Amino acid sequence: EKRKLNKYIDQQSKTKDGLVVELAANIGSPQDMEHVLANGAEGIGLYRTEFLYMDRDVSPTEDEQYESYKEVLEKMGDKPVVIRTLDIGGDKEIPYLNMPKEMNPFLGYRALRICLDNISMFKTQLRALLRASKFGNLKVMYPMVSSLEEIKEANDILEEVRCQLKAEGIEYRDFEVGIMIEIPAAAINSDALAKEVDFFSIGTNDLIQYTVAVDRMNEKISHLYSPFNPAVLKLINMTIANGHKNKIWTGMCGEAAGDLKMIPFLLGAGLDEFSMSPSAILPARELISKLTTKEAKEIKEKVLSMKTAKEIEEYLGNVISNI
Ligand code: PEP
Ligand code: MG
Repeated sequence: EKRKLNKYIDQQSKTKDGLVVELAANIGSPQDMEHVLANGAEGIGLYRTEFLYMDRDVSPTEDEQYESYKEVLEKMGDKPVVIRTLDIGGDKEIPYLNMPKEMNPFLGYRALRICLDNISMFKTQLRALLRASKFGNLKVMYPMVSSLEEIKEANDILEEVRCQLKAEGIEYRDFEVGIMIEIPAAAINSDALAKEVDFFSIGTNDLIQYTVAVDRMNEKISHLYSPFNPAVLKLINMTIANGHKNKIWTGMCGEAAGDLKMIPFLLGAGLDEFSMSPSAILPARELISKLTTKEAKEIKEKVLSMKTAKEIEEYLGNVISNI
């Protein structure tokens, strides 16, 4: 089985009728790169930078961050590397930031919200990213965006940092700036948000949690937490359609992107980039090579007409076992 999949390592990710998509990897640190390269990733779709800030007593310095980003960019050559700005809070606590105890941490002080409130910390990360940009094909992504204003605020800070570097004579390369779509408000308003960014990446882990109001860590209600929930699938479909309407590429870096049962639907909805744990890449590439775009679109339409997660999951389970 493993030998059979190995033939896909150096292949493009392509449907049976020749539509090319990108299969990328999610990473948490430069140490994951060996695994990424061994599994034939065509890019990094999500570099979770928060691990740089965890398990230590002070924030990582600009140089420390720069070195980590540079290492990943260099190892990927000209392949795209999406680096996400700090996403802490929720379940990821950082003692030295003295974050307040909250009743609802997942609805609280988190991610971009912390960065826009802690501008000097955010600027340090943006400086490190700008300095690393010349070593590869960088794309920067903001997490937990709920409104247009947050994008504008973050971009204004990025512009300020760009000007500072220019004044200091430090070289950098222009890069795309995108956002995660992981809050229902962002998915619903994705037509407007698409006009302000270069790409979307759908974060299903949080999008599911917020759409069905089920804490992603709570075992007791985990039966309600499903990527196959029709409401979640409608938001995904809508986000991709609005991205394309506005001519920006749309990817997915939540767990659902690497779920074989989800892939025919996502392909049919037109997803451009699928980012997943490295070990999921080769099975996904094999599955995609066995589907046509026409079949995928029919599957997507059929799924969108169904009413329950159970019915959808069963149908998609049958689809992939018959391929
Ligand atoms: C997501 O929410 O789907 C996501 C990829 O981000 P994280 O799992 O890091 O919250
Ligand atoms: Mg998330």
